[in-house]
Amino acid sequence: MAASPIDLKKCAVHTRTNKPWSLRQCCEAYAKRGIGGVSVWDDAYAGIGVAEARRIIDGTGLGVPALVRGGFFTSLDERVRTESLDHNRKLLDDAAVIGADMLVLVVGATPGLSLADARAQVIDGISRLLPHAEQTGVKLAIEPLHPMYADNKSCINRITEARSVADALDHPLLGLALDVYHIWWDPDLDDEITSVGADGRIFGFHVCDWKLDTNNLLTDRGLMGDGVIDVRGIRSKVESAGFHGWNEVEVFSERYWAMDQDAYLDLIVERLGSCT
Ligand code: ZN
Repeated sequence: MAASPIDLKKCAVHTRTNKPWSLRQCCEAYAKRGIGGVSVWDDAYAGIGVAEARRIIDGTGLGVPALVRGGFFTSLDERVRTESLDHNRKLLDDAAVIGADMLVLVVGATPGLSLADARAQVIDGISRLLPHAEQTGVKLAIEPLHPMYADNKSCINRITEARSVADALDHPLLGLALDVYHIWWDPDLDDEITSVGADGRIFGFHVCDWKLDTNNLLTDRGLMGDGVIDVRGIRSKVESAGFHGWNEVEVFSERYWAMDQDAYLDLIVERLGSCT
């Protein structure tokens, strides 16, 4: 099935994508171009407070798909795990004030802890966090990360592992955020998207691209059309699986951060139309 034309009103940009800009600059520029939403990284409101962040966002009329990012449930030290849970509860409170639909979870991985033990800690952590998600009404979205991050960022690297956590906890507020950067290579991608969609657990969809000449695994992402990912094809699959939420642009790139951010945002809008 061909992807439907992209609707800017159903597109959002992560504040980290325009890292040089303040939250206000991001929101005003997105709204001016007809983009419908902003996904907020917590550093975007660190200096102004969450209530002021809400006022800024409301003033521009943008929707907020996600607060980014919570998680990091794993540690060899139980005290650290407890502190992490407290931090996640605070992030859920912040998400509720901002009006974010979901808190994105990068679940964590810890050198010296087996991936299997780490996954058990993730299930334990999310199960302890769910009551607070219920209180705030904010969803939790596990984001599987590319296996290159299995050392210290995420012990959940494929959709199937994230799905098994969601199955184990089976809660309506728990689902997945699918980021093309992390999932495009998965040999089971089509079936996995179909399965997670059938369960109604695709909460978020993040777009960017994997550059052929990537020189930094964290801060050299491509914009849609810069690389090898069939972003439009994956969007089509996700929509066929029943997802009709936001297309969130999430690009970390020293190269693009060095650009004039208005010109860069014009390019983002162009690529949303031509390559997403
Ligand atoms: Zn993402």
